[in-house]
Amino acid sequence: MIIQENVPMSEHTSFKVGGHAKYFIRTESIDDIKEALQFAKTRSLPVFILGKGTNLLVSDNGYNGVIIQLGKFFSEITDLGKGMICAKGATPLARLARYTINEGLAGIHKLAGIPGSLGGAIYMNAGAYGQEIANCCVSVTSIDENGTVRERYANECSFGYRHSVFQDIAKRESKIPEPAEGIRCNFLSEIILSATFQLTPAADLGKTAKDLENEMQECMTKRRNSQPLSMPNAGSTFKRLETGAAETPAQIAPGYYIEQAGLKGFRIGGAEVSRIHANFIVNAGGATAADIKTLSEYVQKTVTEKFGINLHREVILLGKF
Ligand SMILES: Cc1cc2nc3c(=O)[nH]c(=O)nc-3n(C[C@H](O)[C@H](O)[C@H](O)COP(=O)(O)OP(=O)(O)OC[C@H]3O[C@@H](n4cnc5c(N)ncnc54)[C@H](O)[C@@H]3O)c2cc1C
Repeated sequence: MIIQENVPMSEHTSFKVGGHAKYFIRTESIDDIKEALQFAKTRSLPVFILGKGTNLLVSDNGYNGVIIQLGKFFSEITDLGKGMICAKGATPLARLARYTINEGLAGIHKLAGIPGSLGGAIYMNAGAYGQEIANCCVSVTSIDENGTVRERYANECSFGYRHSVFQDIAKRESKIPEPAEGIRCNFLSEIILSATFQLTPAADLGKTAKDLENEMQECMTKRRNSQPLSMPNAGSTFKRLETGAAETPAQIAPGYYIEQAGLKGFRIGGAEVSRIHANFIVNAGGATAADIKTLSEYVQKTVTEKFGINLHREVILLGKF
């Protein structure tokens, strides 16, 4: 386990902004994780679990705590037979999707273009093009702040649209008052170690592995044509609106309202509402985290004023803004 100090988070987030983390620990075993948690506890520092940083905006002031990231040991996929697989927390989603296609297994192959890790995908219940990571999930294994490992079945994970029980735990834990002994570990959630999936053999759907590959490639093409992939960003800034807020699918997308509000290309500092996809904010060059946050708030305010619609942020903020 290597403990680094004053690590620039701009190097660990897809927005490429953010100040320094006081400590950054990459863990290669369960014992490392326990040691890292203890390290934070003894220093009364909060802990944050970092995946691949693709849904994260870290303050320019940095994070006065301990960032824990799962290392290579936690990037592994195991075939459990009969369409069941287990993937560890740091496995890139792209690798997982590719693996399932090669094995001729359907269910999460359309998620190949999501640039995060398995842990981040479970935490967010990431999804795209009609598939969500929760769809085929059987169980999730995690470790809590006391080092206790537990397994939850999918029906205990409170999966919903961009939601999982791990977000509830994070909220609950951060409200816990300081314990009597004065040691504070503002533990943000349990650490997701792995998840198992039950996938459907392509043949059962009358398809081949090649069909799954084609479906995945079709999704990748849609992404390339509709998302600002050449500029630093963190995917959708705002969550999809509740159905009923508008009539057609296009109108349900936050991007529709942001575009109708005339905000495409609107800029604050180096942060810009993407000219390609209005629900993306991009770092158009030299943006600060404050620029991005201020711009997202401006977009929220403008859309509320014009359409009476409240946009809810999907991107997670870390540190004091
Ligand atoms: C170009 C682009 C396209 C995108 N497209 C999509 C899309 O189509 N659909 C979609 O849903 N998202 C999309 N995203 C957003 C993002 O990739 C997903 O939310 C992804 O699941 C985040 O994973 P991550 O590993 O990067 O998590 P991070 O950004 O590192 O963290 C996100 C949250 O997950 C928590 N977390 C991460 N790992 C763990 C773990 N092991 N245990 C516990 N908690 C953990 C973190 O604490 C944090 O709260 C896109 C992003 C980009 C940049």
